[in-house]
Amino acid sequence: MGEFELIQRYFAVAPCAQGGDGVVRGIGDDCALLALPPAEQLAVSTDTLVAGVHFPAVCDPFLLGQRALAVSASDLAAMGATPMAFTLALTLDQANAAWLEAFAKGLQQMAAACTLALVGGDTTRGPLSMTLTVFGRVPAGQALTRAGARVGDLLCVGGELGDAAGALPLVLSQRQAVAEIAEPLLARYWSPRPQLALGQALRGLATAALDISDGLLADCGHIAKASGVALQIEAARVPLSAALCALAGHEHALACALSGGDDYRLAFTVPPERLSAVQAQWPEVRMIGQVLAGQGVQLLDAAGLAIEAPRGGYQHF
Ligand code: ADP
Ligand code: MG
Repeated sequence: MGEFELIQRYFAVAPCAQGGDGVVRGIGDDCALLALPPAEQLAVSTDTLVAGVHFPAVCDPFLLGQRALAVSASDLAAMGATPMAFTLALTLDQANAAWLEAFAKGLQQMAAACTLALVGGDTTRGPLSMTLTVFGRVPAGQALTRAGARVGDLLCVGGELGDAAGALPLVLSQRQAVAEIAEPLLARYWSPRPQLALGQALRGLATAALDISDGLLADCGHIAKASGVALQIEAARVPLSAALCALAGHEHALACALSGGDDYRLAFTVPPERLSAVQAQWPEVRMIGQVLAGQGVQLLDAAGLAIEAPRGGYQHF
């Protein structure tokens, strides 16, 4: 199968490649064309996933397709952007029909869930990797950035943390667990649900936001630095799932939440008087700390004493 046949058969005909919100021209020309409503800005983010680094080289291609797009779409959620479109630059070591079909199906499923249209890409031969670029729109000046946290705000997260990091030994087949523990954890690794609706709802409410991809402590460090404040986290308030605690024990579960990666849940700061409005619509949102004057991230134990925070966050270099 040639390059153009591959693009046509697996990507150009996919339902998600048949246009969408703001898509003037999709796959098939030298560029895609996107139209923005007046007074809106384009939010753009790109992520690369490399086999053996970001996912096991031998894995279920359907799940990989889902995960690749979810990881990128999560950045749109973090900015409060409305999803529009994405491109896929795919590098394959071989054109395996069964693999491509399953990968395209997983991609399609996540694209439909996120209302993202596939508008272009590139297809090359080499070690398996993929780069996805996502495009969203946001009313001018209303994007949620990392820079707006203010002293007195509360620090919140969009749900339970640590499941994906806790699932890693299961993903890598280093460990096994009964289905009622393994299934929810593996689902959180392979099919994260980008918090797109929450991100859009937080426009005008949250003062700063990001999506947690490198561990709660490392990512809160980014908000603290960009906003010029300190963030104080109460360890006992960090939400942990029953499945994670059953697999890993409470202490290791907390370590997964603090320093593991791949959560793709939102962390945000919000003035205290706005929290009840957020939680009324999003009961899974948890307040885990507050914004103080100073710098960096402080972790408190249940007695309110400072804990030496583990140095966290995966860095490639
Ligand atoms: P060019 O020669 O301009 O780089 P290509 O021949 O690489 O274009 O691609 C032809 C068309 O197919 C373009 O519209 C491109 O965006 C699209 N395309 C290529 N690879 C993919 C892919 N993996 N997924 C979706 N669209 C793709
Ligand atoms: Mg090309």
